[in-house]
Amino acid sequence: MSLDGAYDDGNIFAKIVRGEMPCVKVWEDDQILAFMDVFPQAKGHVLVISKTSKARNLLDAEAKTIGRLIGAVQKTARAVKAALKPDGLVVTQFNGSTAGQTVFHLHFHIIPRWDGVPLGRHGEGGMADMGELKALADQIAGALDGPERS
Ligand code: 5GP
Repeated sequence: MSLDGAYDDGNIFAKIVRGEMPCVKVWEDDQILAFMDVFPQAKGHVLVISKTSKARNLLDAEAKTIGRLIGAVQKTARAVKAALKPDGLVVTQFNGSTAGQTVFHLHFHIIPRWDGVPLGRHGEGGMADMGELKALADQIAGALDGPERS
């Protein structure tokens, strides 16, 4: 899909937001949802999306949405760091299929990195074990600052 075009309400993240598809949630508020990537590039790979915006990518998004999302990415990345103690953290965001985007609902990836552990290829990993994902999500959620902590 090109950089231009209309938002498709049938995309997988829209279905997750509407509760029509399951996800392993890390945290949410009225605007933001952070959940585990089911084809993780590394242990603890989290996705952060807006629940209200219909932006397909960064170029479509309202400045207010981007501000909220980046704040949520920082909050989530801090929790990933506290919970999983990675040596580094990659934050990525793809715009258009040529750039590697596969789901056309704006999202940021938070991918922890450990020394000596290679990064899995984007969009080419196997499906994670749901029990392991849930345990990781609980660990990360437990390290959150603020009211979303459960
Ligand atoms: P993109 O390629 O658009 O930057 O990222 C989409 C991400 O969504 C990929 O990393 C992919 O693994 C993940 N993904 C695709 N389908 C699902 C799904 O049904 N549930 C979850 N949690 N992640 C998904």
